Amino acid sequence: MTGTLTPTADLLLDGARRPGGGGTFPTVNPATGEVLAHVAAADTADVDTAVAAAGRAVRGEWAAVPPSGKGALLTRLADLVERDADELARLESREMGAPLGVAAGLFVPNLVATLRYYAGWADKITGEVLPTDGYFGARTLSYTRREPLGVIAAIVPWNAPLMILGWKLAPALACGNTVIVKPAEDASLAVLHLAGLVGEAGFPPGTVQVLPGPGGVVGEALVCHPGVAKVSFTGSTAVGRRILRHSAIHLTRTTLELGGKSPQIVFGDADLTGAVAGIAAGLFTNQGQVCAAGTRVLVHRSVYDDVVAGLAEAARAQVLGDPLDPATTMGPLVSAAQRDRVLGYVGAGRAEGATLVAGGEVPPGPGFFVAPTVFAGTNDLTVAREEIFGPVGTVIGFDDDAAAVDLANDSAYGLAATVWTRDVGRAHTVAAQLEAGAVGVNGWSPLAPQLPWGGVKASGLGRELGHEGILANTETKTVTVVL
Ligand code: NAD
Repeated sequence: MTGTLTPTADLLLDGARRPGGGGTFPTVNPATGEVLAHVAAADTADVDTAVAAAGRAVRGEWAAVPPSGKGALLTRLADLVERDADELARLESREMGAPLGVAAGLFVPNLVATLRYYAGWADKITGEVLPTDGYFGARTLSYTRREPLGVIAAIVPWNAPLMILGWKLAPALACGNTVIVKPAEDASLAVLHLAGLVGEAGFPPGTVQVLPGPGGVVGEALVCHPGVAKVSFTGSTAVGRRILRHSAIHLTRTTLELGGKSPQIVFGDADLTGAVAGIAAGLFTNQGQVCAAGTRVLVHRSVYDDVVAGLAEAARAQVLGDPLDPATTMGPLVSAAQRDRVLGYVGAGRAEGATLVAGGEVPPGPGFFVAPTVFAGTNDLTVAREEIFGPVGTVIGFDDDAAAVDLANDSAYGLAATVWTRDVGRAHTVAAQLEAGAVGVNGWSPLAPQLPWGGVKASGLGRELGHEGILANTETKTVTVVL
């Protein structure tokens, strides 16, 4: 496998595959701890080269491709991703530990869907004709144009690299921007394979470039570069804050998709079987390495014991193992550091007096596994306040609807929430009261390209996907003609 990966592990810079100025770095299979490949690292000189190439393309060859041609290229890229879907899913699964069913059933199809959705937008990006009172007695024709921003830096995390990159790449290209991708250190291989498909699809050189490497070097150089018009970032809140500070230097536009501590609220009238299954998926999918993971399970006291017992059973039913084995429902965490971080939180939960209902241990054998873990506790515990980014949930009781909403909103974060109830009126009332970017009722808000995605509070700034993705990747220009 390593042999087949090595040729794709170079940068994609100005239309060519090249070694990086920053040497190479290893990428590790988290299920075994073995090195999978050595990936080329860019340096700041590569960033300068990439920004110059992206700037030429956005004003030149890419600008010259007509809108329907941009859509056709996005469609062609979607076709190529579908052709290589199996290989892309296996790469993601191997490099970051997602069970193959998650990579093949969610991440790669979501990328295809997003590319196709924005392929359709490429020739439908319109302005408006606006009535005015005229100009010193003369009539006027005023209209707006939505124009590309320019060079966009897309900085992505490791937990779902292809899917999250699609949310940035597809709308940016549909709107006529060029994109420089900075994949995460722990998951560059699937993105680098996608880079090969970009070339095969026929995008002009410089339209899409991929620069792996350290975030503090490559990511930071992109954020601080005067030639970058926008930074589209998904990652931790700490790095998001740093990016926002740096974006002030050149007033660079930003979209920040950050962390979460999402509540899942179970009312006494909920279908408990469906709720427990949905909550378990919200806790354990992708080993809990999901920004929207529903790690605070708020349960009405009338059904509290049932939900705790159901979640403990769901945790014990998870099958941990090789992500490529179809029987596996939970793979390893992405790295030893991430495993240790998660175990630190499990220790904090115990030390602060939460009741351990399931899990908490490290299964024997190689790889960076942590058993799915459920605590019974309160909303003031560290495990209920900080983003863990692992398979750890805390079940918290409440007495009435107002208390449930107060608990849900008592968090620094505001990314997603779910509400489990059979009462339609209660569902809409509570959905309106929750401080979250997306609310799902009796299920998760689907990660569909048509639906805007993003957070409030410490979960981020701005929105991706849907029509909002078009607005976030264009600037409005107003034109007035005095008639
Ligand atoms: P991270 O913030 O450590 O890294 C994200 C990316 O930023 C990586 O590519 C990294 O190399 C780069 N980076 C690091 N330092 C940088 C700097 N100084 N300047 C520019 N770029 C820099 O996050 P992670 O550990 O890769 O991902 C996990 C985090 O991502 C979690 O907090 C999770 O909630 C969040 N996330 C959010 C969403 C969402 O849609 N809101 C989706 C997925 C993940």
